[in-house]
Amino acid sequence: AKNDGRGRYALFDPELHEKMQRRRALEIDLRRALAFRQFVLVYQPQVDLVRNRVTGFEALIRWHHPERGVVSPLEFIPLAEEIGLITQIGEWVLRTACKDAAGWPDDLSVSVNVSPVQFRGGNLGDIVVSALGGAGLPAHRLELEITESALLNYTDEVLATLKSVKALGVQVSMDDFGTGYSSLSYLQKFPFDKIKIDQSFIRGADSRLECQAVLRAVAGLGMSLGMKTIAEGVETEEQLERVRAEGCTSVQGYFTGRPIAEIDIDAFLSSWNRQKEA
Ligand code: C2E
Ligand code: CA
Ligand code: CA
Ligand code: CA
Repeated sequence: AKNDGRGRYALFDPELHEKMQRRRALEIDLRRALAFRQFVLVYQPQVDLVRNRVTGFEALIRWHHPERGVVSPLEFIPLAEEIGLITQIGEWVLRTACKDAAGWPDDLSVSVNVSPVQFRGGNLGDIVVSALGGAGLPAHRLELEITESALLNYTDEVLATLKSVKALGVQVSMDDFGTGYSSLSYLQKFPFDKIKIDQSFIRGADSRLECQAVLRAVAGLGMSLGMKTIAEGVETEEQLERVRAEGCTSVQGYFTGRPIAEIDIDAFLSSWNRQKEA
């Protein structure tokens, strides 16, 4: 099959060819990954800057490929979206995250990334209800993270679904804020509790006044709209102090904690609390 169609290409690009081959191979493996239990979730702490307290964890998926090792979600999530597999994977993520979170101290929440594709078909609301019920997790301890691209394409369906999960008490946050289009109008139209400021602004603010201005403006916007603002990708103490000074309410990043395995959460929380007291 390797040589299929070869002669028909006017321009043969070996690099592109290799990319497409890797993709095709990944696609076959991805279709089996759920059944073979190759996915795991890791959890990254979110920290409230006012009380210096861990308020919850974001669930981030990892694929342990038997030959390739850990494949990044940046590579396989777009593929899963394209071939429609994200619906099943997303449901697994939601159920697993809710089950895990039900075992944590009850003041901690879990944030789950929801792909725009999961809003198609309109049964995301039912899946959320079932995941919460199955895990025995109160709705207010679940948060859904949605990127702007979700709002761009399926506006009516997304709005209806968001309203129905909000009515249950689930929290909703806008992810990667500032990287898409028309963010401001979406903030008015959709019922968000939290804005996650994209890590490019946090990094950029180290050297660029424009990024500092964006940070300040978004934190101010959050305050006036009654939304929390969480700075993503905070890697240094300097960045932490800057986002605090600009008025962000929380942080998530390597400085306060890298994503960790579920079994390490208790130890992480104990050491956090010890440090806090010291
Ligand atoms: P995201 O939702 O913006 O998640 C944050 C990403 O930034 C994570 O990458 C996290 O490990 C990384 N990160 C956190 N703190 C820092 C930091 O201080 N410095 C740097 N350089 N990076 C930091 P990850 O886990 O590779 O995930 C990448 C993206 O894949 C996520 O971006 C999200 O869009 C998507 N993703 C991950 N898990 C899921 C999932 O279960 N479902 C869906 N639909 N998408 C997911
Ligand atoms: Ca996210
Ligand atoms: Ca993000
Ligand atoms: Ca994040």
